[in-house]
Amino acid sequence: MNRQYIGLVDCDCFFVSAERAFNPSLEGKAVAVLSNNDGCVVSRSREAKALGLKMGEPYFMAKHSHPDILYIRANHDLYQKISDKVMSRLKSFTDEVEVCSIDEAYILLTGLKRLYNTNYIEIAKMIRESLLKELKIPVSIGISTTKTLAKLASDKAKSTKGIYAIGNAKRNKVLSGTLISDVSGVGKKLSEKMREECIFTAGDFVSRPDYWIKANFHKHGMDLKNELNGISLFRVEKEHKSPISIQQTSALKEFSTDIEVLKVDLIKHIRKASCRAREENARACVIEVMLRSKDFRVFTQKTKLEFPSNQELEIIPCALKALDMIYSPFIIWRSVGITLLGLVYGDVMQNDLFDELKKSDDRLGRVMDSLEKKFGKGIIKIGK
Ligand SMILES: [Mg+2]
Repeated sequence: MNRQYIGLVDCDCFFVSAERAFNPSLEGKAVAVLSNNDGCVVSRSREAKALGLKMGEPYFMAKHSHPDILYIRANHDLYQKISDKVMSRLKSFTDEVEVCSIDEAYILLTGLKRLYNTNYIEIAKMIRESLLKELKIPVSIGISTTKTLAKLASDKAKSTKGIYAIGNAKRNKVLSGTLISDVSGVGKKLSEKMREECIFTAGDFVSRPDYWIKANFHKHGMDLKNELNGISLFRVEKEHKSPISIQQTSALKEFSTDIEVLKVDLIKHIRKASCRAREENARACVIEVMLRSKDFRVFTQKTKLEFPSNQELEIIPCALKALDMIYSPFIIWRSVGITLLGLVYGDVMQNDLFDELKKSDDRLGRVMDSLEKKFGKGIIKIGK
């Protein structure tokens, strides 16, 4: 078997780091970023953590318990821009990069050793220093032979010097010191089931025989065991995966019973979802409008589009009709959203020679996208 070496690069307290990259005067200060919709702490600087500020704490409580911390509203456009820069810097080392979230990516290190003529730890150091120096973004890098172990290593890297490698010699010791619930791919339900079987650490889990794991935890369990034992099953997937649906939703500024308020938000979400669909070169066959009430009840209405589309001007009328069907003025609403479903990719219209009208023309949407790129988001408003 060809052994591969995988790094997991994880930005440290990313939202705070991005704010600092943008505004260096925040460096060294206790800073926390608050979520936009409900004002809870979503990112803390090391200094804020040291003061005892908890993740998820609502601002109205935090400002009393920790008045000396600087609280900042999240600016997701900024975070996305900086994330794009981080990822493209990573891709300058190798194109074998799998972006897994706004602040995390797997990177295949195999091959780089030869290229840079040094060991994997030194390569990780190089990557880390480059991101810190050029983009002012601190990262932790975990290195190992499987994705699952690299993820574990990156968690450990946070409390060491930013880089941690789990090789064959160290593996068993690390596994027996790691709670099974801290392993990626082990959710709450699975870790409860494991606890019932007296499996508390990753070491407990890999020491169970294969037949027993197969009987109790099936394929997922065996995959996990192999990955923890250093046998790589999950590859670093550099290709972009096309989404099977595109969803846009967010909480209303305040609860509302007013359909006009819901319409404005729905149109905003459709605009974003359509834009994303065009970026993916995808068209939706079906749309689903979703309403969520103050007490978290969810109401949905699906509508089949006349022909696949990624155009807001075609989607909006159908969506507004669907909204009418589920809306009630007697319910207090917390959010509205849209999901584009049944996505088809590429030029799907080529067999449709008979009816020119059926061709969804995406030129207008693309013009709007480029105007927004040039003049900023929100430059174009669509009337109802
Ligand atoms: Mg992170």
